[in-house]
Amino acid sequence: MKTKSPSGFYLHVPFCESKCSYCDFYSVTSITNEVITRWIRAVTAEARIREFPGVFKTLYFGGGTPSLLSKTALVEVVTKLRGVFDFDNLVETTIEVNPEDVSRDKLRTFKELGFNRISLGAQSFRDEELKFLGRRHDSETSRRALEMIREAGFKSLSLDLIHSLPGQSLSDWEYSLKSAVGFKPDHISCYQLTIKEGTKFGKLLSSGKLKEAGEDIQREMFIRTSEFLCDNGYQHYEVSNFSMGKDNESKHNSLYWEHVPYLGLGPSAHSFDGEKRWWNVSSVEKYCEELEKNRVPVADSEILSGDEFSLESLFLGLRTKKGISLDILKGYDGWEDTSAKLSALSLVEIKDGRMIPTLKGFLMADRLPLLFMD
Ligand code: SF4
Repeated sequence: MKTKSPSGFYLHVPFCESKCSYCDFYSVTSITNEVITRWIRAVTAEARIREFPGVFKTLYFGGGTPSLLSKTALVEVVTKLRGVFDFDNLVETTIEVNPEDVSRDKLRTFKELGFNRISLGAQSFRDEELKFLGRRHDSETSRRALEMIREAGFKSLSLDLIHSLPGQSLSDWEYSLKSAVGFKPDHISCYQLTIKEGTKFGKLLSSGKLKEAGEDIQREMFIRTSEFLCDNGYQHYEVSNFSMGKDNESKHNSLYWEHVPYLGLGPSAHSFDGEKRWWNVSSVEKYCEELEKNRVPVADSEILSGDEFSLESLFLGLRTKKGISLDILKGYDGWEDTSAKLSALSLVEIKDGRMIPTLKGFLMADRLPLLFMD
């Protein structure tokens, strides 16, 4: 690792009670105390072999389902990590939580361990949608969880929601949005359902038993989401993310979007040192086995060339309201013409030496950078 810049720390907790129909994150559902103990031992071993001289500003426990870990397991893993890394400079400490895991006791444990931000996987406030998505909770469980989280007084609360479900109407989606806003979360992530290969939905799609929402309704939901949340005081700072003021933007995810180094531990976790990226094996068994044999559990790695780095900066930057510096664009032939065309189409604005995507630009964020390649 080369950098001493502010950095992010991520721990992948690869356990779930059951697999949601849309999810392609790596996790296993066969969980025993032995498996968790072995995983903690392996995570500790990985922590010891990773040298990371950067200063951790954010810590994020994601998954999988970190909230299903028992108090004993959570205390142990946090204590072991603190024994290896310096977490004295953290400004944001997030744990992903599923509504069905929330209890006053659990919340107390999260607080005692220093978590100051809860990211709650609510996904929808309509029971039939939750059932369709294969979630284990119902809307009442989310509501109770939200009340308890608010009562417990965490510094920041973020909610995840999913839209563009097959058959979902705009008013169905508005119901979830309104319900979410009723709890005044500091941050809301609204993801469009994308059906991925290898998931239950992916199989249903390829056998013709499921149809994705059409592009028109996806577009309508995206625009409505932005309008509704902005009318309710949120700022739309990234394609799928909204925050109540700048202070509540996800500091951890912003590090990814700004190409800042991060260290990820656990099966399938990715890391980036400013130049090189590597990712761990997506298997709890293999991950533990490699570390038990004193080997690094890396599946593969890549070193980004200067061109790849700036292309990635383009893709990441044009998904955020921060946009990208025109200095990055200057590396592309004909960038001035392309910029002028995008501005004329109201897809971007040029301000203070930066290109900033508009709402219309957000809608085609993944395609904008390609226009500079032609
Ligand atoms: S969406 Fe979350 S809870 Fe559901 S399977 Fe994926 S990681 Fe587990």
